Amino acid sequence: MIAWGRKYSLYPFTFATACCGIEVMGAFGTHYDLSRFGAEVVRFSPRQADVLLVAGTINYKMAPVLKRIYDQMLEPKWVISMGACACSGGFYNNYTVLQGIDKIIPVDVYIPGCPPNPEGIIDAVVRIQKIIETGAPRAAERWPIK
Ligand code: SF4
Repeated sequence: MIAWGRKYSLYPFTFATACCGIEVMGAFGTHYDLSRFGAEVVRFSPRQADVLLVAGTINYKMAPVLKRIYDQMLEPKWVISMGACACSGGFYNNYTVLQGIDKIIPVDVYIPGCPPNPEGIIDAVVRIQKIIETGAPRAAERWPIK
């Protein structure tokens, strides 16, 4: 019963640093309407959010901020890594850019693409719902990856 309620009331915190953030806005807009999946109430405090949506390039200066925000979220929490930059550094293979946010925080769902489209975000939310529904282990429970 708790899982049923939780999966339809996900509160996302969007950590958007670059162009992927535009697609995030599309997902929350009326056309794609993420509210159909119960995940439209964006929270701007990590303490009130349970899904961290990281969209964009994360450089090494930004990495500690992202880590702190993740740490400030209450359990249980899930992380979506959106786009090539967040997943792997993308084409920014240089000394300033973190080569994937899973170097510093556990990631539950990866969305490939540059940029992924809003359908990718919806698919990621549905996957999070499936994790909740089935009781599958969260990435945080497998962290750090051995
Ligand atoms: S993955 Fe592509 S669209 Fe997304 S932030 Fe990186 S460069 Fe921009």
